[in-house]
Amino acid sequence: MLGTLSRPYATVRDQPLALRSVSMSEFRLYNTLTRRVEPFAPVDGSTVRMYACGPTVYNPAHLGNFRTFLFEDLMRRTFALYGWDVLQVMNLTDVDDKIIRKAAANGQTITQVTEPFTELFHQDRRYLRIQDAEVYPKATEHIPEMIALVETLVANGTAYVADDGSVYFAIDRFADYGKLSQLDKREVRAGARVAQDEYAKENAQDFALWKSAKGEDEASGAAWDSPWGRGRPGWHLECSAMAMKYLGETFDLHAGGIDLIFPHHEDEIAQSEAATGKTFARCWCHGEFLLTDGAKMAKRVGNVATVVDLREQGIDGAVYRHFIFNAHYRKQLNLGEDSLEQSQAAVRRIGTFARRLAEATGGTAALADAAKRAEDAFRAALFDDLNAPEGLAALFTFITEGNRELDAGGGDVAALAEARRVFGVIDGVLDLVPAADNTDGELAAWVEERLGARRDARARRDFAAADAIRAEIVARGIALEDTANGTKWRVG
Ligand code: AMP
Ligand code: ZN
Repeated sequence: MLGTLSRPYATVRDQPLALRSVSMSEFRLYNTLTRRVEPFAPVDGSTVRMYACGPTVYNPAHLGNFRTFLFEDLMRRTFALYGWDVLQVMNLTDVDDKIIRKAAANGQTITQVTEPFTELFHQDRRYLRIQDAEVYPKATEHIPEMIALVETLVANGTAYVADDGSVYFAIDRFADYGKLSQLDKREVRAGARVAQDEYAKENAQDFALWKSAKGEDEASGAAWDSPWGRGRPGWHLECSAMAMKYLGETFDLHAGGIDLIFPHHEDEIAQSEAATGKTFARCWCHGEFLLTDGAKMAKRVGNVATVVDLREQGIDGAVYRHFIFNAHYRKQLNLGEDSLEQSQAAVRRIGTFARRLAEATGGTAALADAAKRAEDAFRAALFDDLNAPEGLAALFTFITEGNRELDAGGGDVAALAEARRVFGVIDGVLDLVPAADNTDGELAAWVEERLGARRDARARRDFAAADAIRAEIVARGIALEDTANGTKWRVG
C-alpha cells in the first residue's frame, strides 16, 4: 500500500537472501518430547514446517491465548532471522462442543457463531503485529481428510466403532501412548478427567475421533455424512488431519500452550503415528501460561483481558509484545495492574531511538561497533531457545551506547547505515516501535534522500555503493521497483 506505514522496518523474511546472514551458531530449542534443550534444524535444511494450534473461534481470544500466539510469532521471525524459510499452519477450530452449545442457545448455525470471531481474531493479532501464518485451515473445510484418517485407524485396528456410530481411538493399541506427556498409562487412566457419560467407550481413557451426531449438532450445521453415519470430528483429529495435509506426515515442529500437552498433543501423536507408522512432529514446543493475579488467565476463571481492552486504553500492540518478550516463554508471567507501565516506557525509548536513527545524518565508528555487538548478542540470545529477554537486553545496551554516539555527532554515513541495519534486524524480530513513531512524512523524506544518493552512485558507476543503499532501504521495510520512469517505492 502506497504511503501507508504499518511497519517501519523490514522483517528478515522481507529481505533479499543476500542480507540474511546465516549464522554459524547452532539453533537450539527446548523439546517437550525429550525435556531437553536440543539442536534444532528443519529436516530439509531450508524450510521450517511448523504447526501451531489455533483458537477456538466462539469468543474473543484473550491475552493469555495471545501470549502463546506471540511466542509462535517470535519463533517464526527468529527462524527467518536464522536464514530459514517458514511454512506455518495455524488451524481455526470452528466446530466443537462449546461452539455448538452457543449456536444452539442462540438459534444459530456454527458458522454464524464462528465467522465474526474469526474476523476478530485476525484483527486482534494484526493489532499485536503477529505475522500471517501461511495457512489458516478451518476444521469444517477438512472433514473428508479427517474421515479418511479415521478410516485408516479403523482399518488397522487402532480405532473401533461404538454402537452409536461414534469412533474411538484405543490407547492400549498404540504402544507409544504417553510419550509426550511422559505419564505412565495407568496414571493417565487414573488421573485424567473422565467423561464417560456421553459416549460409549471400551476404555475410559479412549478418546473420540468421531462423534455421532445429536439433535443440536444437526440443528447447528455441525453434522456430516460418514461411513459410520452422521457425525462430527473430535478436536484432536482436526489438528492431525490438517497438519499432515499441509505439512506432510512428518514435519519439523508443533507448538502450542503448555495445557495442550495432555491430552490434545498426546492424542494427536497417537492417531497420526498409528495411521502412518512415522514420526508426526520432530520437535514439540510449549509456551507457559499468562496468569492474572496468580491464576491462569482463562475464560472459566473469569479473569480475562482482551486486545479490545488494550485498544480502548490506547495501549499500542508493541507494548504488549514487549511485556510478553520480556519474559522467557518457558516461564510463567503475571499480568497485574501496573504490569504494562514499564513496557510502555520501554517502547517509548525504542521509538525515540528509531526516530533518532532515521533523522541522523552520520555516526561514529563506535556506533558501528555498538551495532555489531548488539547484533551478535541478539542472535546468540534468540538462537539459544528463543531467549527474548536477553535479546531485549542487547537492544537496550545498543540504545544506550547508540544514543551516546549520536549525541557525539560524527559524519560516518556507513556507520550510521550499519546502526540502522542492525536496528532493522532486531526490530524485524521483536517489532516494538510504537505506531506513534512511524510517521509517514519522515520516512518518505528519508527514502527520497536515499534514492537520490543511489541515483548519484549509479551515475558515477559505483554499483557497489548503489546496491548498499538499496539494501539499506529494503532493510526498513520498503519495496523498490525500478521502472522506465524511475524507481517506485512502497512500504511493506
Ligand atoms: P484455545 O482457544 O482455548 O484452544 O487456546 C488457544 C491457545 O492459547 C492454546 O495454545 C492454549 O494453550 C493457549 N492458552 C490458553 N490459555 C492460556 C494462558 N492463560 N496463557 C498462555 N496460553 C494460553
Ligand atoms: Zn491442535
